[in-house]
Amino acid sequence: MTAVGTADAAALLRARLGEFQALVKAADLLEWDHEVMMPRAGGEARASQIAAVEKAAHSLLVAPEVGEWLEALGPAAGEGDGDEAALARWARRERRRRVGQPADFVGELARHVARSQEVWVEARRRSDFALFRPALEKMLELKRRQAELVGAFADPYDAWLEGFEPGMTTARVSELFAELKAGLVPLVRDVAGKAASLRVPEPRGPFPVARQRELGLEAARAMGFDFSRGRLDESAHPFSSGIAPGDVRLTTRYREDLPFSALFGVMHEAGHGLYEQNVAPELEGTPLAAGATMALHESQSRLWENQVGRGREWWAFLAPRFRALFPESGGLSAGELHRAANRVELSHIRVEADELTYSLHVMLRFDLERALLSGDLKAADLPAAWAAKSQELLGIVPPDDARGVLQDTHWASGLFGYFPTYAVGNMISAQLWEAALKAEPGIPEALSRGDGAPLLGWLRENVHRHGRKYGAEELVRRACGGPISPKPYLDYLRAKFGALYGL
Ligand code: ZN
Repeated sequence: MTAVGTADAAALLRARLGEFQALVKAADLLEWDHEVMMPRAGGEARASQIAAVEKAAHSLLVAPEVGEWLEALGPAAGEGDGDEAALARWARRERRRRVGQPADFVGELARHVARSQEVWVEARRRSDFALFRPALEKMLELKRRQAELVGAFADPYDAWLEGFEPGMTTARVSELFAELKAGLVPLVRDVAGKAASLRVPEPRGPFPVARQRELGLEAARAMGFDFSRGRLDESAHPFSSGIAPGDVRLTTRYREDLPFSALFGVMHEAGHGLYEQNVAPELEGTPLAAGATMALHESQSRLWENQVGRGREWWAFLAPRFRALFPESGGLSAGELHRAANRVELSHIRVEADELTYSLHVMLRFDLERALLSGDLKAADLPAAWAAKSQELLGIVPPDDARGVLQDTHWASGLFGYFPTYAVGNMISAQLWEAALKAEPGIPEALSRGDGAPLLGWLRENVHRHGRKYGAEELVRRACGGPISPKPYLDYLRAKFGALYGL
């Protein structure tokens, strides 16, 4: 019995995935509105609106006919380079993960995420891990169950990883992190030793919000972010949301006492946004019209934030604008502002960590997550394990739970397996930067004039336009000619911080 032919199945699948994607993006827009515009009192109604849209999207994908279409296409349909093959691969994986989880399990997990987030907010406020522990234990139980339901994996952690970084394995991340750690830990010690005795100039505040907004907009425009197809707003937690390539939303937050926080925040989110704006038009309206994986997405935000935004050339362009917008800040030179933007400090909080130490915060969490998953580490022993890891990697121990184990929302939200993508993204950012400079040697000079076009052009051609067609490993191979590697990242950090700190 053949219900549908191959050509019909491909067309039906494409149409269905288009509907699915439209609903997913509608939910994203409801979420953006929730974070940016909605009156507080709308919260409860909004939660049920988002849930209803997500449920409708879910039903479209798990419907039996989608399984039949994928079967009619045959296993070979997911092979090769074409858009249809990539679409079939994406649909198979996404559907497998969703079909595996019964509706009552999904509901139970969603309810526990909501409850656990509330408990976590209170536990963090009181800096009391014991308060959060029962919620975490229940979360781990549910997430272990989820790992079993979504597929068969060599390592159960692979199931978590696949949710954010399809194609990446735990073994591969472990291998990359071991190499990164071996290079990074001694480098951080050396720089931290020097940093204590080095006077870093500080621009003087306050930095009025309206002026900060102007500087952020100017930086994003220079990068090539197209504000006729996007916008910048404020939210408590900065994020970016690609509703469509022609509608990309960025948010940031401002603090009048900090000169760089919003600037680099905007550059970070605009880096994500450029990825979403520059996906090939033929992928639009399909699930492939998005950043490929979390690590690749993060490679884009980090590249613009760090290699560009914290780079010497960029400050040649930005320093006169900075001095003009903040005339009371002390008239620092481009070199002094560059140095101030690259202050290294061993700190407890991941999101405040500098470029050099950031990945160490990630490795700490990766090790602890795996130990929690396997049961080698009991939730009750987490604060002690955190302290030991922090000592090992950063050489410091958090003074309390709020600045240690309770600082991130990820575990309270059930986002296990997410953290590694940040550090893998850092590595990829350096590989892409190296390859881009090799292909387009004029990039640094253009950046010193505030012209991001040559870099954006290279990224568009080698990364952005492919959307979600390839995983991180495959895309890096195509763009850089080799596998993901920490070496260019370590080389870049050694050269940069070696020069800044006179090593
Ligand atoms: Zn990001």
